[in-house]
Amino acid sequence: ASLAALTDEVPASHRIQDRRQPVDAQPLSHFANTPDTDPSLLGNRKWGAQIVERIAISDLGVDLVAAHSVDEAAAVDAVVNDAHAAGASWGARPASERAGILRQAAVEFEKRRGELLEVSGSECGKTLDQSDPEVSEAIDFLNYYADLAEGLDTVDGAAPEPVRLTLVVPPWNFPLAIPTGGMAAALAAGSAVIVKPAPQAARCGSVLVETLWAAGVPKDVLRLVHVPENEVGKALISSPKVDRLILTGAFDTATLFRSFRPDLPLLAETSGKNSLIVTPNADLDLAVKDLVASAFGHAGQKCSAASLGIMVGSVATSERFRTQLVDAVTSLKVGLPSDPTTQMGPVIEPAGGKLKKALTTLDPGESWLVEPRQLDDEGRLWSPGVKTGVKRGSEYHLTEYFGPVLGLIEAADFDEAIAIQNETEYGLTAGLHSLERSELETWIDKVEAGNAYVNRTTTGAIVRRQPFGGWKKSAVGAGTKAGGPNYLVGLTDWTSREATK
Ligand code: GLU
Repeated sequence: ASLAALTDEVPASHRIQDRRQPVDAQPLSHFANTPDTDPSLLGNRKWGAQIVERIAISDLGVDLVAAHSVDEAAAVDAVVNDAHAAGASWGARPASERAGILRQAAVEFEKRRGELLEVSGSECGKTLDQSDPEVSEAIDFLNYYADLAEGLDTVDGAAPEPVRLTLVVPPWNFPLAIPTGGMAAALAAGSAVIVKPAPQAARCGSVLVETLWAAGVPKDVLRLVHVPENEVGKALISSPKVDRLILTGAFDTATLFRSFRPDLPLLAETSGKNSLIVTPNADLDLAVKDLVASAFGHAGQKCSAASLGIMVGSVATSERFRTQLVDAVTSLKVGLPSDPTTQMGPVIEPAGGKLKKALTTLDPGESWLVEPRQLDDEGRLWSPGVKTGVKRGSEYHLTEYFGPVLGLIEAADFDEAIAIQNETEYGLTAGLHSLERSELETWIDKVEAGNAYVNRTTTGAIVRRQPFGGWKKSAVGAGTKAGGPNYLVGLTDWTSREATK
């Protein structure tokens, strides 16, 4: 498509929501009455118990009822068989019909925006400024994949053969947009879907599926399954009836899933260790703003977050830069998502292991520019921290943290900065702040990241305009980017199309 055609349509993520309008949202408790649900499945089983506990913490007083809460490997087979069978009739529908249902779902998501924001805040700790764009991104995914589905029909005048069943395993950090993107893509491509939400985002998963059902996705075509991450979960991932797997999670998870079914085509977006280079030619005010947003948006819990700032030459010693950064970080309002003025919320679990270490200790050579403080008893709420003097080759330089901590590392010159940036095993996002064209051109040529951003944040890819996906250990499988033109292809069977041509 031409650039003009792309810019004609303003994606939902760029529309400003007027939160003063009453939101036409259904109460969450309406789940209890849907025929496919069974409240007795909760409470006595491992995940149910966890979920109930979470709801008690958020004090909502609502029931979570999922379509299936499967705790027997044999029961997994039954669900998989049914979904696989339903895939045949869904795939036989014209793409325009499937696209119509997804566009209706986009309308339904807009109507339920308030409900979606509430559930993401109370269950996953997302603040409004983070979850509102996520609802918009979900809407963009639905509309975009609907458009792509119709395009699939006309490639060389023949449609690719749909696959029967796609398993979607989304993460908890984008509990609305990423599951919706995966489900929408597979449904658009003509496949039935089983979605297994992250246990930390089980209620979000339920609300999403219910919304898609309300828009007309048949209940046998889209199944919601909560399974424990043990032999039962393994039975689901390893089932020979699953044709495609969409995963967003750690690299090790993707590797494990691959070992269960080496033959299963996988579209996986995995871990990242992302950094943002600031050169002396940058607009330093803008660089501070974008560094803070990239590091501390959703308390740093994004695969795309920049947990490392690479300060080139005089930036490292700039008093002005340092003062502005400290001011920006210390003035971030930390709190609970229920307060709409909160700018940084809690982390998903009490900080432990590597993250706790990064928030509470310094490695040789490091010092605190802003020392993080634990603000609650549990260890979920932290004030943001910034450390300087990160050493090249250290654990902090090379690995992911997923929490509210930013490290600063110095580079003598621009070449060294790029080398530091590329030195990790990952290649998801990378940022550069510079107004010097020659630096920009060199960087674009050398940077090893799926999403390379100039003079903006390293987070917040936009469907259709900035398809999202990584290089190196940040992608496993097909390597096609979510929200981009090739994504649906990996979810269809092009081989059989070639064979029947
Ligand atoms: N798509 C998100 C972004 O562009 C990141 C997804 C993730 O963190 O998994 O910020």
